[in-house]
Amino acid sequence: MTTANAYPVTQTIRTIGILGGGQLGMMLAEAAMPLGYQCVFLEDNADCPASLYGRVFHSEQLEAFIAAADVFTLEFENTPTATVKQLTDLSKAGDKHGMFPPLIALDIAQDRLKEKQMFNALDIATVPFREVSSEAELQQACHELGLPIVLKTSRGGYDGKGQFVIKQDSNIKTAWQDLKDAVSGKGSLTPTPAPLIAEGFINFSREVSIIAVRGQNGQVRCYDLVENHHHYGILAKTQAPAVGTSHLFQQATNAITTIMNHLGYVGVMALELFVTKDERGNDVLLANEIAPRVHNSGHWSIEGAITSQFENHIRAVVDLPLGDTDNVHPAIMINVLGQYPDISAVLNIDGAHYHSYHKAERDDRKIAHITLMPNDVADLDPALAKLVAVLPNKVGLDKKSSPVDNKSAAVDAPINAETKAEKTLEDTDVSAEGRQTEKPVKATVNKAKK
Ligand code: AMP
Repeated sequence: MTTANAYPVTQTIRTIGILGGGQLGMMLAEAAMPLGYQCVFLEDNADCPASLYGRVFHSEQLEAFIAAADVFTLEFENTPTATVKQLTDLSKAGDKHGMFPPLIALDIAQDRLKEKQMFNALDIATVPFREVSSEAELQQACHELGLPIVLKTSRGGYDGKGQFVIKQDSNIKTAWQDLKDAVSGKGSLTPTPAPLIAEGFINFSREVSIIAVRGQNGQVRCYDLVENHHHYGILAKTQAPAVGTSHLFQQATNAITTIMNHLGYVGVMALELFVTKDERGNDVLLANEIAPRVHNSGHWSIEGAITSQFENHIRAVVDLPLGDTDNVHPAIMINVLGQYPDISAVLNIDGAHYHSYHKAERDDRKIAHITLMPNDVADLDPALAKLVAVLPNKVGLDKKSSPVDNKSAAVDAPINAETKAEKTLEDTDVSAEGRQTEKPVKATVNKAKK
């Protein structure tokens, strides 16, 4: 096959450069191909999942990567901002067709404090929080918020060093000792010095997320609100749509639309939220964080929505009309962690769709996902039971789909063993199990103290 006339002559964008080459990059390339676009990737692992779909450039080959692509996007938000700036500047100079999403979205998503400050500035409710840069400020935050609180580094972190749940006064010193290096930038806890964030420990009932896409003309289209179940920080299951959340949909779509408009965002974004009760006992949503990219909780949309999150992201990046985001059928998405199942046993379940990431097996690594969409919705739970029976690793799948069984956990344990820096890698997409505490945390828009 010759490629000489492979594109309509009017098509100026032919190749999309993607920062990162994991399974998100792979699924973006799968969506780009039928639309007539090639993808290339900037990724240091030459055997990454995306390598099956396009050329992979090492970060030392940045110039060649830039030369190979017409427009740029990312699948990994901890991409060095210098690279994103360079691609943005080239686009502003007219040499390239754009870098999406914008740098400001990355800058905010990489910093928990900036993220929550932005939410509140936009009147989007969060858990109450305080900025903490000294032990005295931590004491003050504990006093003002009331214990328990979660102390987190606002940026980076590693090996479970990024978060600490303070249950009683006697934990305050230990928590400060554990995380204070992030504030001074000493040691290697975070790449750059940054204050800590102290958050009220929220007694949430469910964790949900909403995904939306914004086009270059400012049009926003939202997917259904979905419910997520995690196992020690790793997404195990997404149910789409989240059962019994229609009364929260408007609040969620308003929040993500406001954020996207504020950032001048282009592409797909995910917003993770807690469901909790306000003082009158009504359900409310509290924003936890954004992911400025396609998201694991949107994988169901490949089969379950009229247009998948991956296709819509590509459409936004190359400036094509956005596709309908409506759900075509209720679905459950399961991450395959660590070990591959027998594929024929999986596909023996009616309505099961299998997506391998072509990765080596490794403990709790995301190596594939399966979307269940049996023709009869009543078969969803039986299909899930059959799937769980054939999965070698069943972690996080022992709970009911909905309503959530929000398992208690020891509140003085770290929230999870992973960090903001790692969580942006889809391998370690982090979000710990919901934990309960006796103390309800007020659902308010918090005006953070400086
Ligand atoms: P984060 O790193 O902020 O996304 O937190 C990871 C996970 O920890 C969330 O998905 C929640 O399950 C839990 N978590 C985070 N912040 C809080 C909080 N303030 N109160 C209770 N649980 C939390």
